[in-house]
Amino acid sequence: MYDPLTSTYSFACPSGPVAKVPLSAFRLLERLPAAAHPALYRVLFECRCGREHVGLVSHDDLDWAPLGTASTVTFKNLLTSRDDFLATELADLAASRIRAGEWPWSFYCCLEGRARPMTPSAFAVIAPGESSLAVAVQCPVCRAVSVNLVSREHVDLPFWNDRSIGVVAHVFQRDALRAIEEFRAELHSTHFDERRLDLEL
Ligand SMILES: [Zn+2]
Ligand SMILES: [Zn+2]
Repeated sequence: MYDPLTSTYSFACPSGPVAKVPLSAFRLLERLPAAAHPALYRVLFECRCGREHVGLVSHDDLDWAPLGTASTVTFKNLLTSRDDFLATELADLAASRIRAGEWPWSFYCCLEGRARPMTPSAFAVIAPGESSLAVAVQCPVCRAVSVNLVSREHVDLPFWNDRSIGVVAHVFQRDALRAIEEFRAELHSTHFDERRLDLEL
């Protein structure tokens, strides 16, 4: 499902081979109400074939697979000459960075006026601009939806964390974001303030 070596998710494409797309190719994310455990997300993604398709992603694949923890890939450990799981190494690496006060993803919550750690399941909408992405994020703490302007790497690469980002100075309603075309149109006339993403963990 997720390949940590290429940072891509695999989905079926109706008009070609399997589509391998990064998180930044997701456009809409919605938690399905029926599947309580494990949680399942319906994702609209922009495929390499030029069209948008719907795919399903489990909560674990969405939030933790980008850290490499679900990988079944092995590698030859040159110290022991054994084949070890890459997932174990990547999980250890991620855990030590989190312990050191880094978080794989962060965003700026408008309602609280501060940076917050997040995981990809908090993304509601991802809209590509010319050189950056506008992301609507539902705060895991206060549930308010904020819109941030970030780099593609900020979304696709865990622990990248842009130092400063653009922030729309008002809180959005999640329901209003369903119409992605309206969201994109609104962004063209929106002013972004610059904010630093300093986490206080
Ligand atoms: Zn396709
Ligand atoms: Zn918040």
